[in-house]
Amino acid sequence: MNQLQLPSGISVQKSGNTYVILRNGEAEIGGIIVSGTPMGDTQLQPYVKDPQNNNQHIVASVTQQMSDALLEFVAQKPNDQRYDAFPPIVSDGTEVFENKVFPCSKCNKVTARLIFSWETVSIEDMENIAKNFELEASVSDYPVWILGAPDCNDDDIAKHLTLQIAPNKGKAYWEYPDDMNKRLIELDETHC
Ligand SMILES: [Zn+2]
Repeated sequence: MNQLQLPSGISVQKSGNTYVILRNGEAEIGGIIVSGTPMGDTQLQPYVKDPQNNNQHIVASVTQQMSDALLEFVAQKPNDQRYDAFPPIVSDGTEVFENKVFPCSKCNKVTARLIFSWETVSIEDMENIAKNFELEASVSDYPVWILGAPDCNDDDIAKHLTLQIAPNKGKAYWEYPDDMNKRLIELDETHC
């Protein structure tokens, strides 16, 4: 946990299965509950204490750093001990989104993240989904895309709704999965 980049006055204390985030060593502003899933994945469930506006950004930043550290740790394991979906993002505590992170093949740091929302069929709905991840996207220093529904059922020719939300927010458009794959490969090759 020593690698966390914390704002001044902020500290993290482990208490059971929870990492409690403190301001000035005493005021609890939120925390992250760590739990395992039956699949063997580790899940991070953040919570934020009031006032939400002041505390949200710090909790999101710490959660992201822990999630990335965990990913880098998992990426060092042999292939058969890794899991593709890692860990599901729970937005607003209600909806779970499958997502996939891509660790650099040389340094294991995260190069990109895809969030899957296969049921989302319109540009307007993509924008609404993106709102759920504004906080997370604001602290991400690698690119993040949301992928929505395909425009037809034929995988060979289908384009998917695609919306980049980090490091800068783009506009939703339709794209072939192949083009996304090429981009992910290039991100890996040019990472370090
Ligand atoms: Zn790298």
